[in-house]
Amino acid sequence: MSLSPDFASTLRAIFGDALALDVATRATYAYDNSRRETLPEAVVLPTEHAQVEALVRACRAQRMPLTARGRGTNTTGASVPVAGGVVVSFERMNRILRVDPDNRLAVVEPGVLNADLQAAAAPHGFFWPPDPTSAPFCTIGGNLACNAGGPRAVKYGATRDNVLALRAVAGSGESFRAGAPTTKGATGYDLTRLLLGSEGTLALITEATLKLVPKPSALRTLRAAYADVGAAARAVARIMAQPVTPCALEFLDDEALKLARAHGGDAVPDAGALLMIEVDGEPGTLAAAVEAVACAARGDGLLELRAAADAAEAATLWAARRALSPALRTLSPNKINEDVVVPVSRVPELVATTKRLAAKYALPIVCFGHAGNGNLHVNLLPRDAAERARAEPCLAEVFDAVIALDGTLSGEHGIGLAKRAFMPRALDAVALGLMGGIKAAFDPDGILNPGKLLP
Ligand SMILES: Cc1cc2nc3c(=O)[nH]c(=O)nc-3n(C[C@H](O)[C@H](O)[C@H](O)COP(=O)(O)OP(=O)(O)OC[C@H]3O[C@@H](n4cnc5c(N)ncnc54)[C@H](O)[C@@H]3O)c2cc1C
Repeated sequence: MSLSPDFASTLRAIFGDALALDVATRATYAYDNSRRETLPEAVVLPTEHAQVEALVRACRAQRMPLTARGRGTNTTGASVPVAGGVVVSFERMNRILRVDPDNRLAVVEPGVLNADLQAAAAPHGFFWPPDPTSAPFCTIGGNLACNAGGPRAVKYGATRDNVLALRAVAGSGESFRAGAPTTKGATGYDLTRLLLGSEGTLALITEATLKLVPKPSALRTLRAAYADVGAAARAVARIMAQPVTPCALEFLDDEALKLARAHGGDAVPDAGALLMIEVDGEPGTLAAAVEAVACAARGDGLLELRAAADAAEAATLWAARRALSPALRTLSPNKINEDVVVPVSRVPELVATTKRLAAKYALPIVCFGHAGNGNLHVNLLPRDAAERARAEPCLAEVFDAVIALDGTLSGEHGIGLAKRAFMPRALDAVALGLMGGIKAAFDPDGILNPGKLLP
């Protein structure tokens, strides 16, 4: 769809110089971390809520597709403007409006980077729990729209558990507020949670009131090496079955460990599988909490259980874990990085299934991730055309297996373009129909991020 001169003038009147129509700038906003790309007709960079409202109204009047963008780090194509139209990048709405320790909250604009919010909250003794590995370069708006999470979600929850209120503009062009800056609320439907994870298909978020959590003053990092993936997966279920919740419980299979060792050296043990476990708390009680978790980690197949000697050793271990995702991309530029989730007690079956499918399809599959939530990154790594062809049916089998284990397609990355076709496997027709009705209520003309999320 191309822009009419009248519509371009309307956008110019709203945005002035913060409107880009040149190809070079549009190309910068055409792609995301999924490596898909479609050139938009225009890019706008709002700094105020009123501009966003005027933009949605103008786009609706023209039936013009409108795709929100944070920093384009999502993996599913969620911010690629597949139908063309306008990209609205929130990078200039990046003010932290308030950090309010008394009420344990922060009010931010959507373009604030996750790491910048953490830096602003830290001097007050607080943090915002969602901790995606991309925190230094992804926005709060993207976190909200994808329901992002990270290692800490096992104890503190993902984005959806840590938002109190939102201000937004629906696809209808109407502004509204959802939720309240209170820690309890029972006033009608929960529109806040509905917008979280909606991938910019219902409304554009212009302000968020986020729940802050006091930062524990002490932390211990353990590494537990196991003879094989089954032993490590069974330990995950034992750890989650006892009362002390670790603040990270990460799993690395044998293949992930080899890559992590290449990056982290001896800080990463040579074993069949590894759990990285963190326990936080206050100094007076931490030792007992660590011992409870360590006790559960011990069992059949444990080779070594070791506490990091100091912060530097723990940092090396985490750096090796964080290096995995980019390292896989160098092994296979076409890697398929899924983030399936199953009930924790079924992690052993999920891990066994991925090993079976890797053998069946003769395809490298590397698994690691947030095992304490049952959320594993299952990476299919096709290296040539034949492997790419086998990856497709293999992926479908991974999803079917996950659903048969009472799990679901995505724990944190969302659906976007990549998993849209699989939605009918995960949700029944009635649930999908209700979602379609919700989409129509918020966005009657279907202008917001068309082609995403719903099949
Ligand atoms: C190296 C790397 C590591 C990663 N690690 C993790 C991880 O550990 N955990 C995790 O969950 N994710 C991870 N991700 C994925 C990604 O960083 C997250 O999904 C992040 O939340 C996306 O933020 P963004 O600012 O880049 O948003 P974008 O990618 O630009 O957009 C994501 C979605 O949000 C919508 N959106 C953006 N702003 C708004 C708004 N204001 N209103 C409405 N909709 C909006 C977009 O339309 C799109 O649908 C990782 C990515 C990379 C590259």
